[in-house]
Amino acid sequence: MRGGLQLRLFVSYLAVIGTAVAALWLVLQWTAPVAFEYHMGAMMGAGRGMGRMMAAVMTDAMNEALRELFFRGLRSALGWAVLAAVLTAVGLAYVVSRRITSPIRAVVAGTRRVAQGRYDQRIQVNGPEELAELAKGFNQMAEALAAAESRRLALIGDVAHELKTPLTTIEGYMEGLLDGVTEPSSQTYALVAREASRLRRLVEDLEELSRAEGGRLSLEPRPVPLAGAVKAATARLESQYQAKEVSLAVNLPRDLPRVWADEDRIAQVLTNLLGNALQYTPAGGRVSVTATHAGGHVEVAVSDTGEGIAAEHLPHLFERFYRVDKSRARASGGSGVGLTIARSLVEAHGGRIWAESAGPGQGSTFRFTLPTARP
Ligand code: ADP
Repeated sequence: MRGGLQLRLFVSYLAVIGTAVAALWLVLQWTAPVAFEYHMGAMMGAGRGMGRMMAAVMTDAMNEALRELFFRGLRSALGWAVLAAVLTAVGLAYVVSRRITSPIRAVVAGTRRVAQGRYDQRIQVNGPEELAELAKGFNQMAEALAAAESRRLALIGDVAHELKTPLTTIEGYMEGLLDGVTEPSSQTYALVAREASRLRRLVEDLEELSRAEGGRLSLEPRPVPLAGAVKAATARLESQYQAKEVSLAVNLPRDLPRVWADEDRIAQVLTNLLGNALQYTPAGGRVSVTATHAGGHVEVAVSDTGEGIAAEHLPHLFERFYRVDKSRARASGGSGVGLTIARSLVEAHGGRIWAESAGPGQGSTFRFTLPTARP
């Protein structure tokens, strides 16, 4: 038996057994002579049959010898009984202390293995309820760590992949220039510059994403009218809408309550949704921003008459680097994390964001909710 908890439990059981034996012995020392005298007296004083005969023939010496014999017998019977009880109790104490400590040892060993990076560790405990709970908590922790680890690996893979495309393009142009295969024209430099700025955007978006997903966004929510954020976003994109000949209409109800939000962050979400709507809507199309008020929140909708989204993609749009048409979206310069950032921002406000579309060619609507400000 190793030291620590099991030894302590075992020793504490031994202490209880020892105390019980000592108490038994002491009580017996006090009570047995009194009981003996009482019963002998009662038997002889009864004055009938055996009692009368014994009282008549009993001398003091005989009484003393009887007393001595009785106590010797009692002590010996008691000694054997105590020995058997102590041995059984010691055995039980060992088993019980082991039963309690072995699941704890399993958890400790599991924790060490998880600390070494083995997140597939799970432990099985059939012991007492509290220890089974401890094991359950441990397994949940290990699962969460495994999920975080696989997200981390997936992110590294995704980022590496995203970085590769523009870097390969830049490298290709540079090698072409060095070898004299590519014309050192302003067009070539513009292409290289475009790839470099795509890389910068990607890195900026990743920084923003890590802030948003790590909960390190500095949100300063206040009661604000939604119109302010909408105006900021539409102003940013107005010229691009005009250039592509896509109309942009804003239609907010007059009695819309104020929302509890950080205006700049909501403008950022709207800029992202309006930017996407513009990108996926051909010339001549329409994009609109509307809002409704229900319950304790305001629901904002950005609808377009653009290319729409097939149902199977809808649940995945907000995942990192998810794109319906990978090559096209990448070529257009999107980092693929715009909607992921938008979702983090909306959720940080206590809202929800989702996409709807009747299918390809039928336009799409992106909706998000924000809590209304308490009056
Ligand atoms: P990206 O930088 O590629 O635009 P987002 O996270 O903003 O990344 O969008 C993810 C994907 O969602 C896009 O690649 C596109 O396939 C799809 N998407 C987003 N908005 C729209 C829209 N209004 N219409 C159709 N598809 C859209």
